[in-house]
Amino acid sequence: MVKFFYASLVTTLFNIGFVAVLQLLIHFTDKNNIGHNKYLWHYEIVYATYSTILSALLLWLGANGLSTFTADLLISLQFLTLTGLTSVLITLRTILIATGANFLLFIIASGGLNLPLSIFIAFTFLLLILERHFLYPIDGHRPSRVFVNILISSGLWLYMYVANRADFQNAIIFSLTCIMANILTYFYTNLLRQDHKKKVKIEIEATFDDLTGARNWRTFEMDLQHQYQLHNNNQQLSLVSFDIDHFKAINDSYGHETGNVALSTLSHAIQHVLNKNGLGNNLYRTGGEEFCILIPESSSEHANDIAEQCLNKVHALQIPNQIGEKFGLTISLGVSQLYQEDTGGETLFERVDKNLYHSKQNGRNQITAE
Ligand code: GH3
Ligand code: MG
Ligand code: MG
Repeated sequence: MVKFFYASLVTTLFNIGFVAVLQLLIHFTDKNNIGHNKYLWHYEIVYATYSTILSALLLWLGANGLSTFTADLLISLQFLTLTGLTSVLITLRTILIATGANFLLFIIASGGLNLPLSIFIAFTFLLLILERHFLYPIDGHRPSRVFVNILISSGLWLYMYVANRADFQNAIIFSLTCIMANILTYFYTNLLRQDHKKKVKIEIEATFDDLTGARNWRTFEMDLQHQYQLHNNNQQLSLVSFDIDHFKAINDSYGHETGNVALSTLSHAIQHVLNKNGLGNNLYRTGGEEFCILIPESSSEHANDIAEQCLNKVHALQIPNQIGEKFGLTISLGVSQLYQEDTGGETLFERVDKNLYHSKQNGRNQITAE
């Protein structure tokens, strides 16, 4: 009984500590946290490395003449790091790499592969692949994922018993402690997860505009200054600004709601153009119906090309009003690039704004660049 409480306490505290550090790593590396990141697996390799180093350390400690009970406890902890890690990984590639690395270490520490171990490894891989396939996204399936972790831990201790690597008593004690640690960690990670999602939500609200999904003015100011610092030397920074023509008349004719639909539709259409040009993160809503596109590493010729693509895209838009009739939009644009004499991002912005004003004066629905 004392052994059971001792093992439960150590296992639960270890698991909570492991998960807490993992969550910290996730928070500082993957700001999006919503699976939209194309290079997510790059971050996930960092988490997998953290877990693999920990596994190696636990196995090394276990191989250094400790009592059988302590050595078994360390094996239990090693598999908790694996199940804890695979519970938060999103890409199958990293799940397989991390599981492969974990088993490689375990096989080396066990002195080779045998039939029961091969069956246990196949069983674990199968469960993790099924988990990724059927129990995704993570937030909607957290209790079922705890069950998968419990199955893997129980599989481990069944293998340890069958392969004569653990006696019956230890196998039972560690199966039960793993169940306990997984359940207790579940409540703890729920709290961490909620806290993390709240922080991400606050960050998203501070960065993006709700209605259009474009980045907001505050982000524009920061990014413009940052890009100015980066490109001050080589003048390879361009800016496009555009404003919807006669938008007040659209609001007056069809109502504010329809005006909002128009703003959101336009923003998504421009976002589409930018995604195609590898500029997915560079659209900002800088005013009510005014937007900017920041284009690093480019001259105004390239920016002019992007502006033309945007103008054509807007021409093709058909927006429904409240009674289902469609209407079109036009925009006026200003384009410029950073020059040697510019003393900050704001001087570039002022010149682009002047060019935009020129497009308005000249009859709208056009681009002014220099
Ligand atoms: P111009 O061609 O000279 O740009 O004319 P305009 O009517 O577009 O320009 P003006 O600046 O006179 O009007 C902008 C309008 O945009 C007025 C404002 O009510 C509207 N607007 C600003 N923000 C929003 C919004 O979030 N939703 C809606 N529906 N309208 C907005
Ligand atoms: Mg306008
Ligand atoms: Mg305006």
